[in-house]
Amino acid sequence: MAAIEKRSREDWQELDKEHHLHPFTDHKSLHQKRSRIITRADGVYIYDADGNRILDGMSGLWCVNAGYGRQELIDAATAQMKELPYYNNFFQCAHPPSIELASMIQDISPPQFNRVFFAGSGSESNDTIVRMVRTYWDLMGQPGRHTIISRHNAYHGSTVAAASLGGMKPMHKQSGLPIPGIVHVDQPYWFGSDRSLSPDEFGLATARSLEEKIKEVGPDTVAAFIAEPIQGAGGVIVPPDTYWPEVQRICDEYGILLISDEVITGFGRLGEWFGADYFQTRPDFMPFAKGVSSGYLPIGGVLVSDRVADVLIEKGGEFFHGYTYSGHPVACAVAIANIKLIQNENLVERIKNDIGPYLQEKWRALGEHPLVGDTRMVGLMGAFEIVKSKETLQRFDKKQGAGAVFRDTLIEDGVCMRAVGDTIICAPPFVLSHAEADEMVEKTWNTLERTQKELTA
Ligand SMILES: *Cc1c(COP(=O)(O)O)cnc(C)c1O
Repeated sequence: MAAIEKRSREDWQELDKEHHLHPFTDHKSLHQKRSRIITRADGVYIYDADGNRILDGMSGLWCVNAGYGRQELIDAATAQMKELPYYNNFFQCAHPPSIELASMIQDISPPQFNRVFFAGSGSESNDTIVRMVRTYWDLMGQPGRHTIISRHNAYHGSTVAAASLGGMKPMHKQSGLPIPGIVHVDQPYWFGSDRSLSPDEFGLATARSLEEKIKEVGPDTVAAFIAEPIQGAGGVIVPPDTYWPEVQRICDEYGILLISDEVITGFGRLGEWFGADYFQTRPDFMPFAKGVSSGYLPIGGVLVSDRVADVLIEKGGEFFHGYTYSGHPVACAVAIANIKLIQNENLVERIKNDIGPYLQEKWRALGEHPLVGDTRMVGLMGAFEIVKSKETLQRFDKKQGAGAVFRDTLIEDGVCMRAVGDTIICAPPFVLSHAEADEMVEKTWNTLERTQKELTA
């Protein structure tokens, strides 16, 4: 029996306005137009309370990779709820789902990873990493090494530590962040630069800003560098080819731990199991969340390399950290079923060899539109840049809100993507069919036409 009452859209909107504070939302402006109420979903489509069908080009929030309505995941949750709905992994206990999932995840991860610490979300996973990184260097007899370097415009979550690791200025400003010991360097966003360097030169130059920062703060004070393989929330920023090899060289040279934030890129999105596989980096930590359970239940965690885990285990004593829901059995059972589903349906290979290249080609063709200044897509993670002039790549006036105009028109046409300023981003489910990819791109083109008319009217 459904636990949720049936109400009209208006009733939901009214209750929502009265009682519900939303994440990352300007409530005053929301209350003027009311929320879009999403009531159900199936495959790659979500449905709102008016019955409108919308192709979910964002996989929820980059997470519903297996698509909606997957019976395998529903069955896994139901069975685990009956068997053991909750037990903790504290006090020298464990249960089969957490053990099984840890072992499965290390199995598909790069060879330096053999151990997993569970959390409830990506933000919590990054909090865990701040604690573990600093504990590691204490145990190594270098307690001066507590500084973590991150990047401007990075997104690593929204807890105090994760938002500090992130590089979003408005988030920092609102709450007196970052916490001490976290500093930021440039992001490898070539399109957003003055473009006086070639992409390859720019990739090297931004990687070297990490080295400069290390020298500035003192190499023996730096604990780690954290980065998303491809920046997601910042606008799907694909680094130039020269970037990651140089970052890896710098981390190696200064003995700095590399944290590859795989919350979006993990579990197949780039056509490899992890972003580290795609860019051939050798991270010491990989936080994950989102796609591990296809978002069906909240779960995150941290893959911890042997370099760190061996020290924690051998010399660490008790690590005073963990969450009530670290390794929640039902969330773990769903994640296990989700990884099996991805394996059984060869979804990672499908992104690499089939739907990835298929959508990428169509996406590139959007670059022919006069409003589009740049397109990029790796695996099923893409972006394009709305510009006023294709020749000079000049942007529209900020006040015109070109990205938001496009996004709002697109959703009317039945496709959901996100706007980061005037950068439009997408990350559709892995099960997207060719016909659905066609639909997504055709509607995008039509919306570009409508947007152009509106913005130049
Ligand atoms: C979403 C995200 C997070 C935070 O995950 P939550 O589950 O929302 O806490 C961390 N890192 C990256 C790269 C993300 O995209």
